[in-house]
Amino acid sequence: MPIRTTTIDTTLAEVFGFSEFRPHQREIIEHITQGGDAFVLMPTGGGKSLCYQIPALHMPGTAIVVSPLISLMKDQVDALQANGVRAACLNSSLDADQASATLRDLREGALDLLYVAPERLMLPGFLNVLHTCDIALFAIDEAHCVSQWGHDFRPTYVALGELRELFPRTPLIALTATADDQTREDVRIRLHIATAPVFAAGFDRPNIRYTVADKRQAPQQLARFVSEFPDDSGIVYCLSRKRVEQVAARLKSSGVAAAAYHAGLSAPERTRVQDAFLADEIRVVVATVAFGMGIDKPDVRFVVHYDLPKSIESYYQETGRSGRDGLPAEALLLFGLQDAMTARMLIESGSNPDQVRIELHKLQTMIAFAEATTCRRRVLLGYFGERQPQECGNCDVCLDPPQLYDATVDAQKALSAVHRTGQRFGIGHVVDVLRGRSTDKVGEWGHEGLSVFGVGEELSVDEWTSVIRQLIHHGHLTQDIAAYSALKFTETTGDVLRGDVELQFARPRAKAPKAAKAPKRSRALEGLEVDEELFERLRELRTVLAAEAGVPAYVVFADRTLADMAARRPTTPEEMLEVHGVGAAKLRRYGEAFLEVVGDARG
Ligand code: ADP
Ligand code: ZN
Repeated sequence: MPIRTTTIDTTLAEVFGFSEFRPHQREIIEHITQGGDAFVLMPTGGGKSLCYQIPALHMPGTAIVVSPLISLMKDQVDALQANGVRAACLNSSLDADQASATLRDLREGALDLLYVAPERLMLPGFLNVLHTCDIALFAIDEAHCVSQWGHDFRPTYVALGELRELFPRTPLIALTATADDQTREDVRIRLHIATAPVFAAGFDRPNIRYTVADKRQAPQQLARFVSEFPDDSGIVYCLSRKRVEQVAARLKSSGVAAAAYHAGLSAPERTRVQDAFLADEIRVVVATVAFGMGIDKPDVRFVVHYDLPKSIESYYQETGRSGRDGLPAEALLLFGLQDAMTARMLIESGSNPDQVRIELHKLQTMIAFAEATTCRRRVLLGYFGERQPQECGNCDVCLDPPQLYDATVDAQKALSAVHRTGQRFGIGHVVDVLRGRSTDKVGEWGHEGLSVFGVGEELSVDEWTSVIRQLIHHGHLTQDIAAYSALKFTETTGDVLRGDVELQFARPRAKAPKAAKAPKRSRALEGLEVDEELFERLRELRTVLAAEAGVPAYVVFADRTLADMAARRPTTPEEMLEVHGVGAAKLRRYGEAFLEVVGDARG
């Protein structure tokens, strides 16, 4: 039976179980249902899917959704079906019988939405079939894949540019979370929707807390952080396969349900890890950037960058995979100077000078973010061209502001020590000289005799290291990777030594930065007191039901729904419908079982 409700508000409530539209959703939905094309720019988790799913339910015919990833299609279709929507997908994972059944449904107008891969859609035979059907709209998800400017170009997307002409009367909506101007314009031109309105939602994800910590003993830092989320899902990103394997093995040996994921693993193994992650059997996936594109898990509670990401775009996209459900989430970046140096060296070894220049610039911006002493969110949003007048109050800088002090004299001492030791030593030795430590190396080089030996006794190793690091970040020193990371002067070093510039540096934080506390569920929904015990029971029921149905847990109900349920404790089907994320279909399917658990908890 097709779902037919009178207004888009009733569809939102009765089919999807949500009480309010998110910013821009209503305008977009109305614009599409009136037959317009649209370009939608929303951050990951912003709620792009509803922008075409609701029109699909309000317009005659089938909505065709183009999606690049088979795993994503399947999850979306599962979730829609759980809400009682007639959705299907057509891709290489289906056998011939399944595919022809789906085609028949399409021809008979028995589908509200059909998800297809771009290469399938543009097959002449398939286009002919579409011409004989009633098509409500075309939705092109991950539309940035059409542009070579984007980070994710897919040649199969290029042909989609023909759709606008082939189906001149059918609304076309392109959606992406990729922000930069160049890609944006390119996508609109290539899809022939350059004159269509652009709906751009803010890029802020206020529920994500951004934290940057100095990378010191990364394995311990990670272990401590992960242990703060004993029941939650998270992703740890590393730059190399080898590192992924090491980190995953270490987590596993400390009893965390973790797994490695990278392009070197076999396809079945990768699928296994993804599925187990979706089913909450694997809690932490340690991955290279290859992981995540196909993952639409709304309750990822943390994302850790174990290594420095290559650009703010990728960092933002990867951290954006946490907290899609709108509940508090954590993004932790472990920032090590050595990582920055290695990344720079790798880039500089490239052969295309333009590419090298662009990548170095991106890396530099990423480092500037990590080094920022102002609100992280402000730096991030600023990068995407959004101004944020107030400090966010939910990043490490806002929560634990660094103390700035006049470091001019300290900087001069450090630079003198670099100079007197001949610009041939790394940070460790220079700090030893400053602090007057008689190490073997100091003896060997006769550095006790230098005038700078011991001029900085009053500062700790951490403090001196921090001064030198900040000199490097400000460009007053460089590290020569080719020569054992020796510290060297730059053009501006003289300005500092002469006292022409005054340096405001941040004091190193007193304690090693600790992971922010795991978000308390009770804080999750304002004003509601969540019964944690009941929440756990509801979660157990969800695990059972999801396993029976062979779908990821969140397809049954999202964490947010369970939290709301555990707070409201509904006793009747009507009350159950009030719960966030409970629509008519889910009430029919799961209502009774969950009402029973709530009832038991009362008794
Ligand atoms: P995107 O595709 O933009 O990354 P999704 O469409 O997957 O995001 O939506 C992210 C999450 O937000 C999903 O769990 C979805 O159910 C939820 N969501 C979307 N719109 C609303 C809304 N109006 N109210 C409540 N939750 C919503
Ligand atoms: Zn902030």
